[in-house]
Amino acid sequence: MHFETDAIHAGQEPDPTTGAVVAPIYATSTYAQEAPGEHRGYEYSRTGNPTRQALETALAVLEGADTGGAVATASGMAATALIGYLLAPGDRLLLPDDAYGGTVRFFAKVLSEHGVHWSAVDMTDIGAIDQAFDEHTRLVWVETPTNPLLRLVDLAAIVERAHEHGALVVVDNTFATPYLQRPFEYGADLVVHSTTKYLGGHSDVVGGAVVARDPEMFERLKFLQNSAGPVPGPFDAWLTLRGIKTLAVRIERHCDNAEAVASFLQDHPEVAEVAYPGLISHPQHALAARQMARFGGMVTFRAAGGTTKAHRVASSTHVFTLAESLGGVESLIEVPAAMTHVAVAGTSLEVPGDLIRLSVGLEHIDDLIDDLEQALRA
Ligand SMILES: *Cc1c(COP(=O)(O)O)cnc(C)c1O
Repeated sequence: MHFETDAIHAGQEPDPTTGAVVAPIYATSTYAQEAPGEHRGYEYSRTGNPTRQALETALAVLEGADTGGAVATASGMAATALIGYLLAPGDRLLLPDDAYGGTVRFFAKVLSEHGVHWSAVDMTDIGAIDQAFDEHTRLVWVETPTNPLLRLVDLAAIVERAHEHGALVVVDNTFATPYLQRPFEYGADLVVHSTTKYLGGHSDVVGGAVVARDPEMFERLKFLQNSAGPVPGPFDAWLTLRGIKTLAVRIERHCDNAEAVASFLQDHPEVAEVAYPGLISHPQHALAARQMARFGGMVTFRAAGGTTKAHRVASSTHVFTLAESLGGVESLIEVPAAMTHVAVAGTSLEVPGDLIRLSVGLEHIDDLIDDLEQALRA
């Protein structure tokens, strides 16, 4: 089946008991058994819940997990934490030098207390990656496009290097979504999502997932999900699944609008620099065109007047809401150095103070551009 069809039907057959076309919200913690230990596949909702199962099946199919599967989690960070349990004291992992701030915080301030070491690497530089491996390196964490600088990482090249060194490759596919990029096609071992963003798509739910390609790794993750317990409730799973049904059409429009916004900004005198993988001026445009179906809904730019100007622009929009997060139907604007990326201030991961990040939503493109125009003149 095609992506659009799977997004609506995978894991979402009509309910066997009632024929309900939409997966019901199974708000139950436990399930009646016919005899001790004899049940219909569900015994307790931390271990398994039909609404969550529908979401997990849909995610696994959309990522092309084949013989593996997906585990849904209560947030994207809970998904990251589950992956953390795959590491032991003395192990080391490589993180991108502009990784999502929460991911850096988890490994640098939480797992490091448990003896897991990490190094930040410029993953756009294959030579730097080659240098970074040592005999303790068990895992390579990849984001592409990166947040907030929208740099690209060559998935095929990094998977080859990591596997030569016996390390797992985890791809945080939150920005691209499986509609634009499927890391398993490049040999990645695990895909992690903050479903809070494009998959949910309506800024009304927090969630996450880990998807594994390999059945043994999937079983290990299911064990960890049940043991640590960071599961989403059935209503959250249902909201996420409802969002996924329209992922393909939403992402197409996110891309249309982001492309138009990026070219508008590129020609604007109040803008110093625009980063969007779809622009010919993006240094890795060719890689983006090869690895992604389109270029996504995120655009970042630097205000020509520095940090003060960037703060003024971000406070002057009316259609773009000044808020953290991304991937919803509504457009958002933020200043990463003062908001999402505060945790990495003063480190090598610090981002420029004048950088503005846009999550370009699904409003009419003329309204979006008029709004940015008046804010840039403010
Ligand atoms: C938001 C985000 C996360 C964390 O997910 P939460 O759902 O907020 O816990 C991880 N990675 C990326 C790229 C994100 O944007």
